[in-house]
Amino acid sequence: MRELFDRLQQVPEFKKACEILKAEEDRTWKEHQELVLIPAFSRFEEKRALHYQEMLEAEGFKTCRDAVNNVYYTFKGTDPNAPTVYMTAHIDTVFPMDTPLAITEKDGVYYCPGIGDDTASLAQVFGIMRAIRDSGLKFKGDLIIGGNVGEEGLGDLYGMKHFFFKDHPTGIDGFITVDGNGDHVTYGGTGSYRYEVTFRGPGGHSNGDFGMPNPIFAMGRAIAKYSELDVPNSPKTTFSIGVVDGGTSVNSIAITCRMLVDMRSNGKAELDAVDEQFHRIIAEAVAEENGRWARDKEKYSDKFTMKGAVPLCDRVVEVEIKKVGDRPVANQGFDATIVQAAKSAYESMGLEPQFSPAGSVDANIPISIGIPGLAVGCGGKAGGAHSAGEWFIPDNISAGQAKLVLLLMGLLGVEGVSDPLLPKRG
Ligand SMILES: [Zn+2]
Repeated sequence: MRELFDRLQQVPEFKKACEILKAEEDRTWKEHQELVLIPAFSRFEEKRALHYQEMLEAEGFKTCRDAVNNVYYTFKGTDPNAPTVYMTAHIDTVFPMDTPLAITEKDGVYYCPGIGDDTASLAQVFGIMRAIRDSGLKFKGDLIIGGNVGEEGLGDLYGMKHFFFKDHPTGIDGFITVDGNGDHVTYGGTGSYRYEVTFRGPGGHSNGDFGMPNPIFAMGRAIAKYSELDVPNSPKTTFSIGVVDGGTSVNSIAITCRMLVDMRSNGKAELDAVDEQFHRIIAEAVAEENGRWARDKEKYSDKFTMKGAVPLCDRVVEVEIKKVGDRPVANQGFDATIVQAAKSAYESMGLEPQFSPAGSVDANIPISIGIPGLAVGCGGKAGGAHSAGEWFIPDNISAGQAKLVLLLMGLLGVEGVSDPLLPKRG
């Protein structure tokens, strides 16, 4: 495979594409800065998606913006029997819509929330599109390329779910999400489930209604049990509770409280095992809280100031469990063609790819349904992702883009030069 990529590097259209990428670095960086100033919190990406679409259309690319605001263009290949690859960068960021967005520069480092993850890739993918077109590079297979929504947090991969489950249930043979920067190659996905758990009770005065089941006690019981779960190291499996809130005042029995629960694993069976225990724990915690006060009902119930207003049978804590995140586990071997292709393409360009068997990215969706997929980085340097101090250095952007063009050439095949590495899945 290495020889193939060495040969592809000599293709005149590839050399031309590299020159175009290099010549357009400033333009790409300018567009990058334009995009980063448009807020695009997950599930609120419309404005940035529209702007991205306008940029592409102004350049002559007739794009599709689907029902959820994924934006993409299709380069038609020359061979209908060649595979179709979908390459995309995510439009959304982790920053709520009211986050102040301004670019500041210090010593050549540019700071702005979202400037690296993943606005850099979004702009650079557009640059890649122009280089492919203007170099005259002709792939054998179709390339669908653009930006997508819903990668971060509670976006819950809704962009990819829509693309693969609704609009393209078949017909995609390979997938690359351009996410972050550098030469990382992530080829599997950590699965995760997330829940919002709300405990509710009648509430009351902490003194006057003493004896009433307390939603906060129930939640505390659940937290204590959840924190004691035993999970395997391999495949890596984790659990956490990220947010708790609720109650009204120090002298009230809470009416309601809530927690956000996270569980992840690189193995589906292990993830499902945590999930099952989580549901059991919640049920047990509520039963124990209600049982504890039912046991002492006679002792305390005559003191209820709410007596009469609330029937005795309603004096219980109840729970509502809402699933707010579902990212499938995605397993793909290191020996998969797409992984080996990335390895060879990068090494052919003198780069040292850093491989990771699992991330939590858009590639989870296609890989989980058997489509070869990768998450890779683009050009420039970046850091501080998801923090207010997120930064980017527009250094050697085109090298990061060029390696992706080379990888696409290998995967899709080049007219008159090479056959595609990826099979058409049929
Ligand atoms: Zn990202």
